[in-house]
Amino acid sequence: TSSLLAAVEMAPRDPILGLNEQYAADTRPTKVNLGVGVYYDDEGRVPLLRAVRKAEIARIEAAAARGYLPIEGIAAYNQAVQKLLLGNDAALLDSGRLVTVQALGGTGALKVGADFLKRLTPDAKVAISDPSWENHRALFEGAGFEVVSYPYYDPATHGVKFDEMLAALRAMPAYTVVVLHACCHNPTGVDLSAEQWKQVVAVVKERGLTPFLDIAYQGFGDGIDADAAAVRLFADAGITTFISSSFSKSFSLYGERVGALTVIAGDGDEAKRTLSQLKRVVRTNYSNPPTHGGTVVSMVLNDPALRKEWEDELAEMRDRIRLMRSQLVEKLAASGAKQSFDFVKAQRGMFSYSGLTSAQVDRLREEHGIYAVGTGRICVAALNSRNIDNVAKAIAAVL
Ligand code: PLP
Repeated sequence: TSSLLAAVEMAPRDPILGLNEQYAADTRPTKVNLGVGVYYDDEGRVPLLRAVRKAEIARIEAAAARGYLPIEGIAAYNQAVQKLLLGNDAALLDSGRLVTVQALGGTGALKVGADFLKRLTPDAKVAISDPSWENHRALFEGAGFEVVSYPYYDPATHGVKFDEMLAALRAMPAYTVVVLHACCHNPTGVDLSAEQWKQVVAVVKERGLTPFLDIAYQGFGDGIDADAAAVRLFADAGITTFISSSFSKSFSLYGERVGALTVIAGDGDEAKRTLSQLKRVVRTNYSNPPTHGGTVVSMVLNDPALRKEWEDELAEMRDRIRLMRSQLVEKLAASGAKQSFDFVKAQRGMFSYSGLTSAQVDRLREEHGIYAVGTGRICVAALNSRNIDNVAKAIAAVL
């Protein structure tokens, strides 16, 4: 008999990891990796936030035992997540209609929600933006859904094909799961305006669609509350809403896997039954979440001094990204770029669809050691005061 594994096919390589390997092998000292998906500080490093460090030290000193957490995670963490998403004074907080389970990052939250929804509406399709975070499609397909996309980015205007997006939503059958980036759209950086969100909420409500809001960059756009505006619009509209949230970026805790799935249910009884089913999904996947990251985030969010420090650090990250956006635009113009890059300043979050073609991206890499994704996505948070001049000159040279 032949080996069980003899017929296993090689899975396709993650394109971004391939880029990272090429970057690592590049010996040019001026090389820059704009293909990454993490926030770097001005030194080009993933920061360890001061608030996180303080909470970690306090936690080690408390010599806490490492028993199992409840299946749904830390209660104080889950409550803090709800406040961050909905606002400290939201009426929903005490309504009994909110369900939150601690999850393994935003990805884990999406997967728990997807597995639950697959049991609930097995025939529904999932609709993601065109383009979207590359894992959305694979994750929902992996949960057994057929995944379609709705029009989103318009390369001609560097904006949103809003009329087409709305028309696509209007044509969807009830219960279609619509994955929406609540802020800081990945990969484009292009978000809906407040007025456009209102129209999306109205169509979702009218058509009976299931919104699944992905908020992985809260605080990286315009601020903690401003970035949650879309979440709050859905909450206020009384729509059954799924929300996956992540602290990977906002706490720079990528490897600790800290996120949450929150569901806004119609009433307290629905919420209790929903929680029982979400716990079943968790229990049969990984049993219960890990202690460290959730505890640290909970300590920071629930302690006024640490909370203040974190909000300041988050503002520093946000301001640095915005500074890099405006400097890139200025330096491109100063380097002789004929076309305007002003749209880069209007984008939000870590990423920018720069408008560079895949041929230009190839030249940037080959001739200048500057690595970007073939779609032209660049990570603005990988720019810093030492590399931005070279990057701007190199981009201007390949235009
Ligand atoms: N959703 C979006 C839109 C993202 O960009 C990311 C991370 O890149 C995630 C979810 C996943 O985040 P996490 O690392 O917390 O799983």
